[in-house]
Order: sequence, then structure tokens, then C-alpha cells
Amino acid sequence: MLSGLRRCLSASTSRRALWSLKSLGTPPFVSAPRFGHQTLATAPLPAVGGGGTSLAVRRARALAHERLLQVEWEDGSSSLYPFTWLRDNCQCPLCTLQSARARSLLLSDLDVHTGVDHVQLTENNKVSITWPDQHSSEYEPDWLKRRCFSPEARRARQEELFLNERTFWDSGLRIPTASFEEVLHDDKAALAWLQALRRVGIVYLKGAPVEQGQVAKLSKRIGYLRLTFYGHTWQVQDKPMANNVAYTSGKLSLHTDYPALHHPPGVQFLHCLQQACEGGESEVVDGFHMAEQLRREDPEAFSILSSLRVDFTDTGADYCDFCVQSKNRIIDVDSEGKVVRINYNNATRDSVLDLPVHKVQPFYTSLKSFVELMNRPENVVTYRMEPGDLVTFDNWRLLHGRRSYVSHPDYLRHLEGAYLDWDEVMSRLRILRKAVHGDAP
Ligand SMILES: [Zn+2]
Repeated sequence: MLSGLRRCLSASTSRRALWSLKSLGTPPFVSAPRFGHQTLATAPLPAVGGGGTSLAVRRARALAHERLLQVEWEDGSSSLYPFTWLRDNCQCPLCTLQSARARSLLLSDLDVHTGVDHVQLTENNKVSITWPDQHSSEYEPDWLKRRCFSPEARRARQEELFLNERTFWDSGLRIPTASFEEVLHDDKAALAWLQALRRVGIVYLKGAPVEQGQVAKLSKRIGYLRLTFYGHTWQVQDKPMANNVAYTSGKLSLHTDYPALHHPPGVQFLHCLQQACEGGESEVVDGFHMAEQLRREDPEAFSILSSLRVDFTDTGADYCDFCVQSKNRIIDVDSEGKVVRINYNNATRDSVLDLPVHKVQPFYTSLKSFVELMNRPENVVTYRMEPGDLVTFDNWRLLHGRRSYVSHPDYLRHLEGAYLDWDEVMSRLRILRKAVHGDAP
């Protein structure tokens, strides 16, 4: 027992390739991403913060025939705004409930073919429009600028809202790392954590107290955690009559959590309370990077995995009894073909397979191709959690696994986990960004 304990303690001093979030300017890479995606260091992050970037309006005029307002900015550029959109988004107290920042104008009261009576610039450089019914609206230059309809402006605004540019990585990743306590108490540290969680997909927090309740505490830093059938938080331990393969000492192959739900949890927290003496190392791969690699190397497999919906199932009892079924694409793409989510857990992939019989073999061949790709040593990052370590990662993007471990009755490996959703995490990120950098309207 003592010798086992000593081995555990010495293991805890082993150094991993972690990258401190504080070492600003250091990209979290050893090797460069290969497929044209940007690293944190080179990504053209949209300007945040209202100060210094505002532009005055030089001229505003109605293009009556096109039913567009043309705004000329002092730098010579110009923007176009449809009359209907302007009327719909009148910011006056009759049309907007100021306390909720929500539209109170009803669509039934909106003339979607409205003209304008006249347009003028006010003394303080606002654009003022009088509508045919003599209702009048005023628009701040900054407010208009941020809602410009040009493709570039829309792209920049969407990126600022959703941070969808990702930094791809492989086994050379040095996992971004921050202090648990700092993230809890310092807005700048919390913002850096969530931005790296979004861009890189995984952030390691060090120094959490070695007692249960820390994942719940961390989720309160964001908002609230995501309740599932496994409870508000869950204990990953070797359990008799396990209701999940995670609750054994066996190897867990690379997977995302909970594809048996149609809306799987977006973010996962895992806090190490006790590590196994032997084995139990964690493995992660960048699923979005792997999907892009598959698209390039085996387009047929990519096409099959991103189009066929596969059945997943999860049955048992925990928080309460459950009988969950879903149909998910293993590689989920949006309407433009961009990979937005990986849904794959071999343990809960159902034996019910709702495919025409001739598509079954191609499906297996494709899945095998994807799994072999993600298991290549150059793609897998391995790390070993020690008590007090808390890993946070994107469960829509990363696949994670665990090496088998030796289960010792006096020294039980124990992780506590919790889920959150991306909507709540991104909400906190935007609020922190505003608190740290200020923000335009
Ligand atoms: Zn109004």
C-alpha cells in the first residue's frame, strides 16, 4: 500500500506539456496546423471594445427606388441599410422595451414595404429618419456601423459573437493551462480560460481543492451546469454493476460524451480527486481537425459519416431511470459544409442501424477509416491527471479516452465530472469580454 502511494506521489511530479495562459503571445503549438486554419497568434481577431474605433457619418441619404439608406462614413466607406430593417429596429421607447433591450414593435404593425419621408443628420451625428406616418427614429453611428450588411462586416460581427474560428492541433499541443483559483476570482483569467476553451477546445486548470464540489463551483462561475440522467455532477469510479462503461477500470476508446442525446452537452469538466497508481492516463484528439483530415484523405468516408444518421442508445437508472434514443451524424456539418459537432461513442452506438442493407458495409468501412485516423500517434495528446487538476474541454469537438488502470480497493481512482452547454459558456464569455475590454452597443 505504502509503495503504491509513493509511486502515485512520484507520478504527480512528472511534467506534462502544459502551456500557461499567462505566457501571452506563445501559441499553444509545437507543430503548426496544416490545413490553413489560423493559430491564436495569427487569427485576425475582430476588434472588441468601443473606444477609439467609432467613425462619424459624413452623409446619409435615401435611395428611394431601392428602398435603401446609404450611409457614407468619414473614412470614405459606405454602408447600405434597407428601410424595412431600419423601421423594424427603431430604438425609440415606443418600439423598443428599453429595460429588456427587446423589440416591442409588432410585426403586424410593420409595413414591410415602407418608404421614408425624409432623412437627416442630427447635430450629434445621429441619423434621423421620419417615416411616412411621421413616426421618427434616430440611429447612433456606432450602432449602425456594427450592423453593416457588407459580407466582410457580417463575417467580422459573427466571428465576434460566436468565435467560430478554431485553432487546430495534433499531438504537439501544449494544453493551455490556468490557475483554478484565478479563474474563479479574476475576470481576465476567466476570459482567457473561456477564449482558449473555445479556440483550442481544451484548458487545464491547476490547483483545485481535492474535494468534491469543485466542478459545481466552477460551473457557477459561468451560470449553471447541465443536468443529465447521470445527475448534476457524476463520479467516475470503478463501480460494481456499472451503468456506464466509464464506471469501470477498462480502456475507454476515443469518444464524445452522450451522443445518445440529440443535443449532447457542449462542454465537459473533469476534476481529479484521486488517480490510479498504474494506468488511467487521459487521451484527447481534435475531432474537427480529424474530420478535416478525413475529408482530404478519404472524401467518400467523410461524405458517408457526415450524411448518414446513426442510432445511439442509453438505458439504465441513475438520477432516475432512463431509456434514451437518438439519431446523430457522426460528423455533423452545417448548411455550408463546416464541421460543427462530432457525435461518436462506440459504447452507446446502437445495434439498431436504420440504414438500407447495402449502406451498412460502406458505413463500417468509413467509420473504421475515421477511427484509425484519430488513433494515429501524431494526432493523440496524452496527459495524466493528478489530484487537484481539473480539465475543461469542448465535448462537441474533442474526442477523449482513458487508458485502462489497475483498480486498487484502498486507492480508488476518482474523477468528478459535470456538463455545461455552449450557450451558457459563450454568454459568460461575452459578459467577461465586456467587463475586461468594454464593448460597443
Ligand atoms: Zn419607434
